[in-house]
Amino acid sequence: MIVTIDGPAGTGKSTVARILASRLGFEFLNTGAMYRAVAYVCLERHVNLDDTEAVGRVPIGLDIVFRNNRLFLDGNDVTEAIRGQEVTQTASLVAANELVRQRLVQLQRDVARNVNLVTEGRDQGTVVFQDAQCKFFLTASPHERALRRQRELQARGDEVALDELLAQQELRDERDETRACSPLKPADDALVIDTTPMSLEDVAGYLETLVRGRMDH
Ligand code: C5P
Repeated sequence: MIVTIDGPAGTGKSTVARILASRLGFEFLNTGAMYRAVAYVCLERHVNLDDTEAVGRVPIGLDIVFRNNRLFLDGNDVTEAIRGQEVTQTASLVAANELVRQRLVQLQRDVARNVNLVTEGRDQGTVVFQDAQCKFFLTASPHERALRRQRELQARGDEVALDELLAQQELRDERDETRACSPLKPADDALVIDTTPMSLEDVAGYLETLVRGRMDH
């Protein structure tokens, strides 16, 4: 069984997907981390981000592995390194690259082979797993999303003003929603859930009930 959770940044997708996967005993895939990993390598190697072909070559031969909810790039643990501000903004740039998307979508489908999976991202329900049995699309108010991002950054010792985060978030949303390939939008058969007033534990519990209901049929 495949469960997809899509939506913009700060809606709690990855936290909800992780809790849900653990409660269901499913594998969990964080596809945003894969785009972040490609962005991280582009920055490390000083790849010209306007050079579509050069960016498109980056994921070729890159060893991206998830183990115990940590991400390893060519054997190095980059879980924390990919959460910083620069990588975050660069990720939405490289994610518009068609070659990058092709390669990462292939990897995502490979992970899904022969396992039950909860996967989160922007295009999981619309493009990567169109036949998924359960599709969810999480939303939240821009203010709440920026607050969640601020708390995440605070936890890593980064203090960033809310206004700045709101501006970055708007730019990222616009890039994700207007790009030519796999733009961010709910799948026609996705259930859209506003998480603004809910705790992420509650969202996960709600989704668990819905998925279990589907499994029983
Ligand atoms: O979810 P997260 O903020 O970690 O994703 C980082 C960036 O990766 C997003 O802004 C988006 O541009 C891109 N992304 C994507 N497709 C996915 C997952 C993430 O384009 N399935």
